[in-house]
Amino acid sequence: MTRHHPDNISLMEYSAGNLTEPHALCIRLHLDQCPHCRSRVDTLDSLGAVMMEHQPRVDVSENMFDSILARLDDDPEPRMVRPALHTDPLRRLLGSDLNDLPWKRQLGDVSALDISEKFPDQPEQVVLQKLAAGGKAPSHTHRGEETTIVLQGAFADQNGVFNQWDFVVLTDQDDHKPVAVGCEDCITLSVLSAPVKLTGTFTRLLNPFIR
Ligand SMILES: [Zn+2]
Repeated sequence: MTRHHPDNISLMEYSAGNLTEPHALCIRLHLDQCPHCRSRVDTLDSLGAVMMEHQPRVDVSENMFDSILARLDDDPEPRMVRPALHTDPLRRLLGSDLNDLPWKRQLGDVSALDISEKFPDQPEQVVLQKLAAGGKAPSHTHRGEETTIVLQGAFADQNGVFNQWDFVVLTDQDDHKPVAVGCEDCITLSVLSAPVKLTGTFTRLLNPFIR
């Protein structure tokens, strides 16, 4: 069961179709495995449909917006759960199992694969990252925003443990040093708006685990 979810704004943007392709893929992969967030998106989809229907007579005030967000936060259990999506958009995109990809070994425990070319018209860098089981990535901060979803295994940093399908957004305020936990290699998909800045003893730019 995932414990780290996309925030309400991200789900709203997803529901409204406003996200770039790589960001939408991260949300979609999470939704496929998270009934809680699927329920939230269902609610947002219904709301969007009502608003479209009544446009422009419905004036959505900031208060109304806030109360909708509060209601989403208060909803502990999924009510209207849309069924899990049974296609695998990632496998279709990559054409291969995650572990069979042509990983490029970086320093130490870290491997990476830049798949930005799969999203030719999108501004972000899109990278798969692999931290070997039990391995550590060097300490680093982020210059922009990085959206990451865990595809396999788990990693831990000072913010907690991130398991498969957990969702995390890191900004330039975050300085972290991920460690792979469990007995599997940890594989993540990250969408990067700017490169990483190393803060530890490593001075070279290593790979996207540390972007
Ligand atoms: Zn979720």
